[in-house]
Amino acid sequence: MDANKANIEEIVKQVLANMAGNGATAAPSGSAGKASELPKTARVAMLTDLEHYEIKEFPLPEVGDDDILVKVEGCGICGTDAHEFKKDPFGLIPVVLGHEGTGEIVKMGKNVKKDSAGKDLKLGDKVVTCMIFKDDPEITMFDLNKQNVGGADVYGLLPDDEVHFNGWFSDYILIRGGSTVFNVSDLDLYSRILIEPCAVLIHAVERAKSTGILRFNSRVAVQGCGPIGLICIAILRTMGINDILAVDGEQKRLDFARRLGAAETLNFKDYKGIEALAEGVKSKLGGHLADFAFQCTGSPVGHSNIYKFVRNGGGLCELGFFINGGDATINPHFDICSKELTMVGSWVYTLRDYATTFEFLKSAKKIGLPMDELITDTFPLEQINEAHRTNLAMTGLKIAIINQ
Ligand SMILES: [Zn+2]
Repeated sequence: MDANKANIEEIVKQVLANMAGNGATAAPSGSAGKASELPKTARVAMLTDLEHYEIKEFPLPEVGDDDILVKVEGCGICGTDAHEFKKDPFGLIPVVLGHEGTGEIVKMGKNVKKDSAGKDLKLGDKVVTCMIFKDDPEITMFDLNKQNVGGADVYGLLPDDEVHFNGWFSDYILIRGGSTVFNVSDLDLYSRILIEPCAVLIHAVERAKSTGILRFNSRVAVQGCGPIGLICIAILRTMGINDILAVDGEQKRLDFARRLGAAETLNFKDYKGIEALAEGVKSKLGGHLADFAFQCTGSPVGHSNIYKFVRNGGGLCELGFFINGGDATINPHFDICSKELTMVGSWVYTLRDYATTFEFLKSAKKIGLPMDELITDTFPLEQINEAHRTNLAMTGLKIAIINQ
């Protein structure tokens, strides 16, 4: 009996029921907002130069019949924001960044009734956005490189325009018709800020499951205990997986990995050379190499090493290289061929992963995983430059802007 599979099937059933509107409660319809309570102008944090945000004030935009105006409560800083802040690789400056945001609906057009999963929407509901679909409703992935965007975009990575309120590092954001928006009123603020990064890991675990190797009783190694690796561990734990080994070079992160569900930890600084390291993995997993491993670092050495952590016939998911971190050396004979390794890559998420993510965050809370503590530092909007510098210093985990 595959308990994990049963559990996932149950979740999927619930999600589908919600999408069909079965789980929805009675709708207060025609909820055009009371504009009188809204200010005339509001702030955005606009990246106007490398490593330089300016707080700018603009008139609140018109809310069209299909649009939603959201008062922002908070937004996490993503690795993508850090790259934009330092180097503007996507050529977006001037831009209002922030895509891990959440807030409250304060005004909505008369055509807006339901969210993208079929749940009712009304004033006061807490929402997150996912993607903006332009021309291809079939699209399930998006590319952050503007040149390659085929059919979807994302708030917080849009070039500035006459609306200005296009990212979550702001007081308000205008969600336009055609966007994906989810009613997540049943999640607390910190959980809502963590939805976007968690969706990345939900997707990776879905990719891993597609190998048929990752099961509820698998021995799993997770290499890299930044936010990505830590969330990975928490998801595996909510799936009922017990034998999780966290691998990192920093004891503080390994200690937190344990609190998020890792049964064992391994500090790679305690081992000299890859053979000793692989032996270390084996002894920490009760004398067995891992059935499955997740590579969550952006380090080429990390990629080369992880093959040695996996048993013959095992599986591997590479999700650490969000940006080009260079080439990695492997031995195709030992690492892939003679091992009959099954490997998957994982990139961003699909729309459907979002719905699964909401259930994950509730499950994590239920079994007492301290997900909130992933957000280690918070700053008000006006201190966004400092927030980004703290993020680059890598002294914390997830850094977030919180609007009071
Ligand atoms: Zn992101």
